Amino acid sequence: MFQKIILKRFLSGMKKSDSSWFTVDKIDECTFVISEYSHWEETHCYLLIGKEKALLIDTGLGVCDISKEVSKLTSKHICAVATHIHWDHIGGHKYYPDFFAHRAELDWLSGKFPLPVETVKQLISKDCILPQEFDIGSYDIFQGKPSSLICDGDTIDLGNRKIIALHTPGHSPGHLCFFEEESGYFFSGDLIYKGMLFANYPSTDPKAYLESLEKVSSLPIKRIFPGHHSLDLKNEIIKEMLHEFRNLDRNGNLHHGAGTFDFGEWSIKL
Ligand SMILES: [Zn+2]
Ligand SMILES: [Zn+2]
Repeated sequence: MFQKIILKRFLSGMKKSDSSWFTVDKIDECTFVISEYSHWEETHCYLLIGKEKALLIDTGLGVCDISKEVSKLTSKHICAVATHIHWDHIGGHKYYPDFFAHRAELDWLSGKFPLPVETVKQLISKDCILPQEFDIGSYDIFQGKPSSLICDGDTIDLGNRKIIALHTPGHSPGHLCFFEEESGYFFSGDLIYKGMLFANYPSTDPKAYLESLEKVSSLPIKRIFPGHHSLDLKNEIIKEMLHEFRNLDRNGNLHHGAGTFDFGEWSIKL
């Protein structure tokens, strides 16, 4: 018992290795979730493998090389797309020159990212044992030119799989969710997850957030895959969020500065 406790303490003080940074879980034969549970953001990226190519939805924090994990799962050409251009979703874009982005967030990829790099470095290091291989000193927010723009209603064709992009602004102006009709998989990014949702930054839009929830609530979704935290989301969460957002709107609270509203498994900061 004593030895176990000592060992646990020793391990918790150790730097993590590159290979233990990511957790890969299989959703089905051709769909995987790659998670960063060692970090408080608990970011999830999703790999969708088609007959002709594969799509990586979000590329994570950029602390470790996600392409090493992806290449263990497929040798197909990878297109990357971020649900939105926030630092915690584009960290691995540097490995994927073939990536898509929404027009509304192009500025953030070319010198106008809304947070200073020093603030992002603090967010990465906060309460986290970073891997030995990662040098926070040389970290920079990904900047680059997408191979293609992506718009609302566009279909990404992977051969036998077709993924529809849905423009869902609110958390960010160019936020996208992705829906695969055949499987009913819905990749919700930072629009829907369990935990604190953010619509308080200057670039957020609480009213647009509500409209985006309205928009996705009519989709025939079978499973929701969020950008952060628990993967155990029931479909009812969309209706519940929609209901609470409508109430906030009705009560005159759906605006910046209204505060934080807690609904149990999730909350919204306005
Ligand atoms: Zn975000
Ligand atoms: Zn996020």
